[in-house]
Amino acid sequence: MESPRQLERIVVLGAGPGGLCAAWNLALDGRRVVVFEREPVCGGQSITFERGGFHYDLGPHNIHSQRPSVIGFLGRALGSDFLEWRYRAQIQFRGRRVNYPLLGSQVLQFLPWATSAACAASFGWGRVLSLFTPTFRDDGTYERWVVNRFGRRFYDIFFGPYTEKTWGIPPSQLSDIVARKRIAVRNLTDLIKGVLFKTTHFHPENTGLVTNYFPRLGVGQIADHFAEGIRRAGGEIRLNASVTRVETRAGRVCRIRYRQGEEEAVLDLDAEGGAENWCVLTTLPVNEFAQMLDPAPPEEVLAAARGLDFTSTVFLYLNLDSTQAFEVPVLYFSESEFPQTRITDMGRFSRDMMPPGKTSLCVELTCSVGDDTWNADDATLFERVMGPLEANGLLARRRVESYHTRRLRHAYPRFRVGYQEKIRAIVDHLSSLSNVTTFGRQGLFCYANVDDAIWMGFQVAKHVQYRERLPLPMDELLPDYIDF
Ligand SMILES: Cc1cc2nc3c(=O)[nH]c(=O)nc-3n(C[C@H](O)[C@H](O)[C@H](O)COP(=O)(O)OP(=O)(O)OC[C@H]3O[C@@H](n4cnc5c(N)ncnc54)[C@H](O)[C@@H]3O)c2cc1C
Repeated sequence: MESPRQLERIVVLGAGPGGLCAAWNLALDGRRVVVFEREPVCGGQSITFERGGFHYDLGPHNIHSQRPSVIGFLGRALGSDFLEWRYRAQIQFRGRRVNYPLLGSQVLQFLPWATSAACAASFGWGRVLSLFTPTFRDDGTYERWVVNRFGRRFYDIFFGPYTEKTWGIPPSQLSDIVARKRIAVRNLTDLIKGVLFKTTHFHPENTGLVTNYFPRLGVGQIADHFAEGIRRAGGEIRLNASVTRVETRAGRVCRIRYRQGEEEAVLDLDAEGGAENWCVLTTLPVNEFAQMLDPAPPEEVLAAARGLDFTSTVFLYLNLDSTQAFEVPVLYFSESEFPQTRITDMGRFSRDMMPPGKTSLCVELTCSVGDDTWNADDATLFERVMGPLEANGLLARRRVESYHTRRLRHAYPRFRVGYQEKIRAIVDHLSSLSNVTTFGRQGLFCYANVDDAIWMGFQVAKHVQYRERLPLPMDELLPDYIDF
């Protein structure tokens, strides 16, 4: 076992909340910390950018946590800027707006009786079929999980279209884990009980059950807090520094190659005190990190890395002539008539993010890099979004004073069937490198929120500080988030 003070040099890859939190802790502890970030600013998915007096986030970043320690930390860090607020959301469904997440009762209440009866019949028929077809009740995919519990008809009406729009792939290719984690009601019986007895099921986005917070000037305030602390403690953040290659030798990362503008540059850990005295904490997409390794991992690890992908998002920002658009700050759209999954009125999160008398709507369009949505110009996307909004009386185009877009390549990990085996293969390989730990939302390919990323940053820093063990086993880091 190496002595505790040996790991005094730290490389952090990625300046999102997770990487920054780890870097901040270790810089405060007196280590030499170097952070590499591809973008010109810190924050990752949790940035806030300013344009013409408007502050924009990449979608709504409502902070809620089941870990009081993280909320307590953010409260101390941001002080009175960490606002507690009442988050409310609805979903546009069959021409009406219903509270979101759908807690069961609303769905049935809003369907005509004949449709509800058809749903019940299809559910019953599924049960009969399952008696004679043993494999019928195997879950495995999102689609099967829902059909087994709610019936085909109900799946076709609600779950199927919404899920395909959100994840950008057919639900038959999506792991049943997504359904298990994200559907509040467990089956049709629960749903009917919900209608009859008005029972409530826990869901992390059920605004009645969690306390919600938001930084006054946008979620980017969290990254700003960490970045300022890192620099004040003598740490270094290299922006516009895109890591391209990670060289290893004798079971350790020894060199990091990156591109800064037109320049190819290298951080040579061997030359700067010896690779054995450095540790590398990466929050980069784990599949991309694996493909950067030199020498390359075995073919099965590379194949696993190539088999993981992410949903991308185009954010269309609509700047309005007034302070409010809808009854609630967040409106979801399940039906395919609407190209967007969600619209957020950011001025309702915090008035201080907007110029006086104005607000901005953030419209989220799920896509894949290079597809028709990703490549469309702003005017085309504006027309696609405005058409159905106007047709349904939700928003008149004369209220939109200006609009622009921003694109995010890695928005959500796509939890395709079999994704766990692929992550396992990659992480097992990374475990053979004694000075590397992967964590964060992209680093563990998980549905981590800001509070999770921060919590992981604390955990990883603590392990480096106390040298209990490195690398940190993934199962220990994220037992609640990854099912193996
Ligand atoms: C649309 C949307 C809505 C969300 N809503 C919420 C919400 O309501 N509440 C909530 O708590 N969370 C929300 N989140 C999640 C939150 O944004 C993330 O949990 C958080 O940012 C993850 O932090 P991270 O540090 O793990 O990763 P990231 O923030 O993704 O940071 C990773 C960093 O690595 C950098 N990087 C990647 N490749 C390279 C490279 N080759 N070289 C150098 N740098 C590289 C990236 O530029 C990025 O800055 C949302 C996310 C999205 C996309």
